Amino acid sequence: MHQVPLYIGGEMRQSTSSQWLDVLNPANQEVLAQVPLATEDEVNEAIASAKEAFKTWKDVPVTERARIMMRYAQLLKEHHDEIATIICHELGKTFEDAKGDVWRGIEVVEQAANAPSNMMGETVSNVARNIDTYSLIQPLGVCAGITPFNFPAMIPLWMFPLAIVCGNTFVLKPSEQDPLTPMRLVELFEEAGAPKGVLQVVHGAKDQVNQILEHDDVRAISFVGSCAVGQYIYDKGTANLKRVQCCVGAKNHLVVMPDAHKENVINNLVGSSVGAAGQRCMGISVAVFVGQSKQWVDDLKTALSKVHPGTWDNQDAAYGPQTTAAAKERILSLIAKGKEEGAECLLDGSDCTVEGYEKGNWVGPTLFANVTPDMAIYREEIFGPVLCCVFVDTLEEAIALINDNPYGNGTSLFTASGAAARKFQHHIEVGQVGINVPIPVPLPFFSFTGWKGSFYGDQHTYGKQGVRFYTETKTITARWFEDDAVSGPNMSINLK
Ligand code: NAD
Repeated sequence: MHQVPLYIGGEMRQSTSSQWLDVLNPANQEVLAQVPLATEDEVNEAIASAKEAFKTWKDVPVTERARIMMRYAQLLKEHHDEIATIICHELGKTFEDAKGDVWRGIEVVEQAANAPSNMMGETVSNVARNIDTYSLIQPLGVCAGITPFNFPAMIPLWMFPLAIVCGNTFVLKPSEQDPLTPMRLVELFEEAGAPKGVLQVVHGAKDQVNQILEHDDVRAISFVGSCAVGQYIYDKGTANLKRVQCCVGAKNHLVVMPDAHKENVINNLVGSSVGAAGQRCMGISVAVFVGQSKQWVDDLKTALSKVHPGTWDNQDAAYGPQTTAAAKERILSLIAKGKEEGAECLLDGSDCTVEGYEKGNWVGPTLFANVTPDMAIYREEIFGPVLCCVFVDTLEEAIALINDNPYGNGTSLFTASGAAARKFQHHIEVGQVGINVPIPVPLPFFSFTGWKGSFYGDQHTYGKQGVRFYTETKTITARWFEDDAVSGPNMSINLK
């Protein structure tokens, strides 16, 4: 049985832990590997190694640091399909979708190679006689990242390349559900020329995260995952005076105007709601039909009933299994609750199986109509292939509905009207907006800007804000005396 190693001080090593978890293929429950819950000493050692490496890494010229990212991006491209296949095995994504997971991560590494232009300070000369003020952007020290199961390539790549190119060192605690993908990313990072100790990986769950949250030498923590865990990490991390950014759960609405292109609306709703088995934080879980567009729901049902989950190597599979049996059970109980609470279940994927893979965590496409905001299927993040339809009369009602929702990760409007689009993008209280685009995840020269209950923190992930998150600004005020000029005692704080 493959035992997933830790990565400490530039060495892959076997954990001495007595506690190990199985890494399962969710399509058939085959045990692929075992992952350790790292011991307290191992976590301490990883942080100490990152602290030690920071002493020299921070002084490596930024151009050299950036060149490692260029090589890394190239290596990731060369190993693109191989990494995608690992994702397929441990998470069950279809091959096309897994390739997207890798590619969206590579784009962040490419942007990390461009980080120096975002690390430029500001200068004002002659702020007083012979005095100039300028700022330097400098790394923080040891940063840590805690990542979720659903994008095992992309989300670790949101974090460590940018933190490290800025001059920090990093401790990654990946999801215990699919740790094989991040370990391959780490091997390639070393191959790209990353010095020993710059990146560490510790495996584990709550206890290991707690240790990171409490450790004096960790300066900043990036988290992506569920709301409950994100709140805990934000509270505890900031209470321990760390810089924390947490990208958390979502309930994303797609608003359909009656003037939109019907076929495009239906195709985009199908892909964005059940794609990746609904396990995307930017996936669409609520369709808001405005006015007469509600007549399209029958066609939506027909389109959804034609798609089926399946194994990653089945070309006809629209999406894969849920990540765990527990996740599947939770989704089924929410579907049952939706029916109990009076939503109209037009398509029920609760009883779904895939021939030859009967033990897989399959859930079929599920469609509810006449959903109201008080229902559990509307309030809770289902994170499964379940789409809830809400009917309203006007765009203003749709905007009010979305603005009342506690989450604010992503939303989308499908329309042929520029005026409607402008009103929507201006008034909507959501951080990432698509106009005729269902999943508006920004490319990494922007930042990933969830709002409200979908994000805790100040500076968002990647882009310019990511660089700000992983750096300090130092402001220098400098005077150079000309010749023998003498400055007398200055009793005020004015610069003279
Ligand atoms: P999760 O919160 O269960 O786990 C995330 C990480 O936290 C894992 O590394 C896990 O080991 C760790 N963890 C779990 N319980 C913990 C605890 N009690 N204390 C400390 N650490 C703990 O999330 P998940 O199920 O892996 O991922 C799905 C969630 O992630 C969804 O809610 C989804 O919306 C969210 N997500 C958000 C974004 C975003 O950008 N906003 C992106 C991807 C996923």
